[in-house]
Amino acid sequence: MALSVPVTWSDAHRLHAPTTAVWIGVAIDADELPARADRIRGELEDAGAAVIDAEQHGDDALLAVHDAGLVDFLRTAWKHWDEAGLPDDPGQRDVVGYIFPTPGLLGGLEPRVPEALSARTGAWCFDAMTVVAGGTWEAARAAVDVALTAADLVLAGAPLAYACCRPPGHHVTHSAFGGSCYVNNAAVTAQRLRDSGVARVAVLDVDAHHGNGARAIFRERDDVLTASVHVDPAAGWFPHFLGFADDGGTANLNVPVAPGSGDEVWLDAVSQLVRAAQEHGSEALVVALGVDAAGGDPNAPLDVTEDGFREAGRRLGGVGLATVVVQEGGYVLDIVGRLVRATLEGFEDGRSR
Ligand code: ZN
Repeated sequence: MALSVPVTWSDAHRLHAPTTAVWIGVAIDADELPARADRIRGELEDAGAAVIDAEQHGDDALLAVHDAGLVDFLRTAWKHWDEAGLPDDPGQRDVVGYIFPTPGLLGGLEPRVPEALSARTGAWCFDAMTVVAGGTWEAARAAVDVALTAADLVLAGAPLAYACCRPPGHHVTHSAFGGSCYVNNAAVTAQRLRDSGVARVAVLDVDAHHGNGARAIFRERDDVLTASVHVDPAAGWFPHFLGFADDGGTANLNVPVAPGSGDEVWLDAVSQLVRAAQEHGSEALVVALGVDAAGGDPNAPLDVTEDGFREAGRRLGGVGLATVVVQEGGYVLDIVGRLVRATLEGFEDGRSR
């Protein structure tokens, strides 16, 4: 049966195409590539899904969850970096942080935004891995429009809409980007649903890494539940410092799972997320759909199968709530499309039962 989920889209994602990422000071091949979204779109079109171009939205929803300083930094950083000549001297083409205002550095003082452009990145970014390249802002801002267009469809009565967006967003907090993410598309979506009259919303994050961004943004609120299944940060995985079961928060559930967990353990965790949304009284879901929990993805060791993703979709769809699915991670080009397709087919199957 053909997929009936509308797929929202912007060609502008291709403007964010860094060829390298920086990890422990070494330039490595980037893997958050335009081909990811293009492969997903192709697979969903093959399955019969209709693709809808994103409509432009104002900054209201963006500024409802992010510091205006972060948004302004992202909007202008690469232009200023380029104008300052840093691509030629010392030869760094992309914006990258080098000093970070950790509590240890500040010793209790409030951080100030540095004058030096080369240092300013550290005020808004929490890692030295996530570079801002020419075109990054345009792509990240378009991803917000893709997510909000999917939210519009659900608010207009669609039971499910899928935002085929990149770069991903789920690691971005109120005022800091990182983890290959720049703007928190899922959090923006959840806030838009709230501002449009949905009283209680759940952000369910099944990416292989902790959805620390939404968790931080909604940490002190009970109208937006944040729940995440992810590889145990204690086992040595990003974001390392966060994502533990006892991290706390007002309406938050973290379900860390061990490396090598596979379908059974991971799906049990997905069911815990579903139950948390039901207990929360959520009236709509935002699913942060990373498919990097799949076996073979070098960015996480969870070994979930395509059938596992299909079953996760069934369980999420079985909740029977209006749902916006927002694309996050998933880096193996040969399988990323199939995994998203399986999840959405499972969702529609679960929904119809
Ligand atoms: Zn991930």
